[in-house]
Amino acid sequence: MNKETIKNYYQAICKAEKIEPIKLNFKNVGRGGACIVHNKQGKLFSIDIDLKRCNDIETAILHEVAHQKLILKNNNFTHNKTFKNTENKLIDKYVYTKFTNILIGKKIF
Ligand SMILES: [Zn+2]
Repeated sequence: MNKETIKNYYQAICKAEKIEPIKLNFKNVGRGGACIVHNKQGKLFSIDIDLKRCNDIETAILHEVAHQKLILKNNNFTHNKTFKNTENKLIDKYVYTKFTNILIGKKIF
C-alpha cells in the first residue's frame, strides 16, 4: 500500500480525534506489524509500520491511535481493559466509514 495514502488516513483519524499526529516510519518492526515508539515518561516519538508484516493497515493504525490517545491521556501504554475499550470504540467509529475510503483510494474530502 502507498505510504502517502496511509499518512493521509492516519492524519484524518488524528484530526477527527483531535490529537496531534506524530511521525509515521515505514521500517521493519520486530513484533506485530506496527508499534508506537515512546519513552517511559509518555513522550511520543513515532509510529513504526512494517508493511511486509501488516496485512490490515486500517486496524493497525487504529490500534496505534488507541495507544497514542491513552499515553497522552494518562501515560497508559498497556493492553489493559481501558485500552481494549478505547480500541474497540475507534474500530466501531471508523471501520467501514468514509475514512476507510481514504485507504482504498477514493477522494472524500
Ligand atoms: Zn499495542
